[in-house]
Order: sequence, then structure tokens, then C-alpha cells
Amino acid sequence: MTENGSLNVINPATEESIEEIEASSREDLDRAAQRARGAFKEWRGISGLERAELFHEIANNLRTNADELAEIMTREGGKPFIENHDEVGWTAACFDYYAEIARDNVGYLPAPIETQQLALVIKEPIGVVACIVPWNYPLLLAAWKVAPALAAGNAVILKPSEETPLATRRMVELIEGLPEGLLQTAFGAGDVGEMMVRHPDVDMVAFTGSQQTGRKVGKVAAERLIRANLELGGKDPFIICDDVDVEIAAQGAVWAACLNAGQVCTSAERFYVMQSIADDFVEASKSYVEGLNVGDPMDERTDIGPLINAPGREKVERHVGEALREGAKLVAGGERWGERGFFYRPTILTGVEPSMTVMRDETFGPVLPVVEVGSLDEAIEQANSVPYGLGANVYTQDFEKMLKCMREIRAGTVWINDPLTDNDAAPFGGQKGSGIGRELGREGLEAFQESKHVHIDPKVEKKEWWYPYGPADEPGQRVM
Ligand code: NAD
Repeated sequence: MTENGSLNVINPATEESIEEIEASSREDLDRAAQRARGAFKEWRGISGLERAELFHEIANNLRTNADELAEIMTREGGKPFIENHDEVGWTAACFDYYAEIARDNVGYLPAPIETQQLALVIKEPIGVVACIVPWNYPLLLAAWKVAPALAAGNAVILKPSEETPLATRRMVELIEGLPEGLLQTAFGAGDVGEMMVRHPDVDMVAFTGSQQTGRKVGKVAAERLIRANLELGGKDPFIICDDVDVEIAAQGAVWAACLNAGQVCTSAERFYVMQSIADDFVEASKSYVEGLNVGDPMDERTDIGPLINAPGREKVERHVGEALREGAKLVAGGERWGERGFFYRPTILTGVEPSMTVMRDETFGPVLPVVEVGSLDEAIEQANSVPYGLGANVYTQDFEKMLKCMREIRAGTVWINDPLTDNDAAPFGGQKGSGIGRELGREGLEAFQESKHVHIDPKVEKKEWWYPYGPADEPGQRVM
């Protein structure tokens, strides 16, 4: 944020300014909310089929412009271009998914109280939804909210992170055919986000970000009694059993820890390895980590781009530094890379303890802290020992162990032998302190719907259970 209240968007690979954009004012939000109200009414008059057609056009348009969007995302966010290109594809797929699922989910018929009656449950939109997202997957995480919110019939005001507003601004420009004002953007940092959640014309907030901010958003939403969907941070465990190919598990582990330089909400941040294979696992992980290319995210050979900003890198350095001071051993990395940009080398630590910050707080960097465990029970107990519960990974070929992990690990998603693969059709979100509510799948649509029960009796007649309770002809009884 600059002194004149505009956002200075920095390229984290070069530390150079890309563009300054103006932050939204209270008056901007008032106007946006008013336009959103008007658009909301218009949108209700557009059929499900027409909406679906529009959504498919949006998806196709995004795919057509994937190179441009990916380049903007790479410059402002530092994620390798190839990953940003994939992200545009997943963003489009999310619009395609909700185009169809929304047509199929407008309500249901419960059994009525009496046979001649009709009971209906109608799924209705909530109104104007504030969608607030972080910088690590700016378009995808926006789509996980915007697509189901619009598909359910709501209007949306979307605020990207102050770090990455440019690709979102471009994406919204590319989205054509919606009623004027149905999807609008607001720009700014936390103060603008808070103004949105407090705005009297905002009926719901869908938030993705850190646990700390999520708590603040939840508090304001509770004061206002509006619905809040909260997708928060994680500290995902990664368990490696001794029945697997250690080389493959190590490669999967490095991928899960270092994808987007470890800045995925479901990045694996704690590794529990069976004692008998621990040395081999660390050795194999070290060789993979050392083979990764750190560098310019626009270069197609780059595996690891920069961290988002200086505070982000300082946090990683603090976690690693504290662990080393408290007795952990550095196997790889543990230092900055390059002259400019917020790069940090992929890092492996052994000898870590559960009490260390690197094993308790979200690090959000390319760090693998490895713990040797004696049994699967011990691994699961440690996996469950932190107040987060977003995702969890397990490597095993033993079906009984898969089932045990599936049942006993407290997390919104458990990935077995395929780390970090999302599925539009399945709910995504956190248990424990990692969030409230779900995105994606049917639940991701229902998050943006109100249920209205309509009870119809076609006959106008007195019901026998109405007053008076006693027989009407007894002395002293009223007669209706
Ligand atoms: P953040 O919490 O700092 O910011 C997220 C968004 O909230 C930004 O747009 C920010 O401007 C806004 N904001 C900040 N203060 C606010 C306030 N008081 N009221 C309303 N809005 C406010 O998070 P970040 O650094 O942008 O993103 C990283 C975090 O997001 C990590 O913790 C990561 O795990 C989490 N995350 C979670 C998921 C998920 O789906 N669970 C996905 C991606 C990232």
C-alpha cells in the first residue's frame, strides 16, 4: 500500500513495481453494492439454461486467454508460468462444473404432513456476496467462490489480495454476458476487506486466507449475523509407510512441500516417516530437492519461483532458524537464492521436535521437516496434534492402513498416494481451525443458497387440531 492509498503491485521475482492501482473507497463499495442489488434482481429472471450457456462461454473465453492471464499471474505472484497456465484451466473447469450442477440443484420435495399437501424446499440465492481471496491461487480460489455464488443466483463483489490484483482485474474484464454489476471487483488490503464484510448491503462473506484473518472476518460476520464461509490455513501432515517405493514417496513428498514454493494452503509441512525407511527417504528427498531449478518463474525450466514478499520469506527463515537453534539438522537448502527477488531454496530438516514452530505454525515455504516414527498409530497421533485440519497425505499400498488413515486423520481431505490433487466435484475445506464450511462439489453450491420451506394445502378447511381443545357443545367452551 502506498501513501496515497493505492496498491503498488510488486514482481516478487525482481522486486520491481509492476503497476500502481487505486484502492476502493467506501463510496466505491456503496456504488458497487447498489449496482449488485439491481443486477441480483435481473439475474433471478434469467433461466438456469441461459446461465449455464453463459458460464460455458466464460470458461471457453478464459481458456482462450490463458497465456495472457498466466503471464500476469506469474509477474505479480511469482508462481511458475506453467503452473499459472494450469490454474487458468482449472478456473475454467470450475465454471463448467457449476454451469451444470446449478441446474440440477434447485430444491427437493420432502414428504408432506398430510397426503393431499405439498411440501417444497426451494433453494434460493442469499443476495450480495463479498468474496475475499488470497494471492497464492488468485483466479482459481476466486472461481471456487464466484462460480457457485453466481450459479446459485447471487451477485458478487470480489476482492483479490493486495499482492495480486492484476490477473483478477483482467479475468473479470474477460467475463462477458452477465448483467451489469453482477460481478464486480474491489481492490485494497485488509481495511477494504473489512469494509466489505461490514457493509450493510453485503449478505454473506466467502473468505479464503489465513487463520488469523479468518478469525477477524468470522467475528464481524457473527456481529452482523451474516453467513461466513471460511477457508483457512493448514499444516498438513504427510505420512510415509514402509511398504512403498521410497524413491516415489520422496518425489511425491518434495512435490507436496515445494509446489508453488510451498505456498499452497494444502502444502505438506510435516513429514512422518517409518523408522526403517527414514534414512533412505531423506537421502532420496535430498537428491530430488537439489535437482530442482529455482529461478525466474517465466522460464519454463523453473520449478520453484520466489516467495510472495519479504515478510513471507522472513517467516520461513524464522521457522527454519529457530528449528536449527533448537537442535534440528539441516539436510538441504536453508538459505536465500539469487541477488534479487524473494527466493528461498527448498529445505529439508531432520531431528525436528513437535514443539518447534516449524512443526506447529503454518510456514508457507518450501520446507520439509522430517520426523521418524515407530508406528502408524504414532504417525496419526502426531498428525492430529496441531489445531489445523485442512489436508493430509499418506503413502501406503496396504488397504487396511489406507482405511485406518482415512478414518482416524482429522482433515478435510485425505490424499492417499496422490498428493494435492483437487476435484471440482468433491468438497474442499478444513476441519478444526482450518475453516468453517466447504467449497466445491454440491456443498460448494449449497454454501451460497438459502433453503425455503413452502407448505401448501390446496384445501381451505378448518383443521381439527385448532382451538378450542374441548368439544364445542360443552358449557363454558367458546365456539369458533
Ligand atoms: P490473508 O489472511 O493475509 O489475506 C487474505 C485476504 O483477506 C486478502 O485479500 C486480504 O486483503 C484480506 N484481508 C486481510 N485482513 C482482512 C480483514 N480484517 N477483513 C477482511 N479481509 C481481510 O492471507 P494471505 O496471506 O493472502 O494468504 C495466505 C493464507 O491463505 C495462508 O494461511 C493459506 O493457508 C490460506 N489459504 C487457504 C486456502 C483454503 O482453501 N483453505 C487456500 C489458499 C490459501
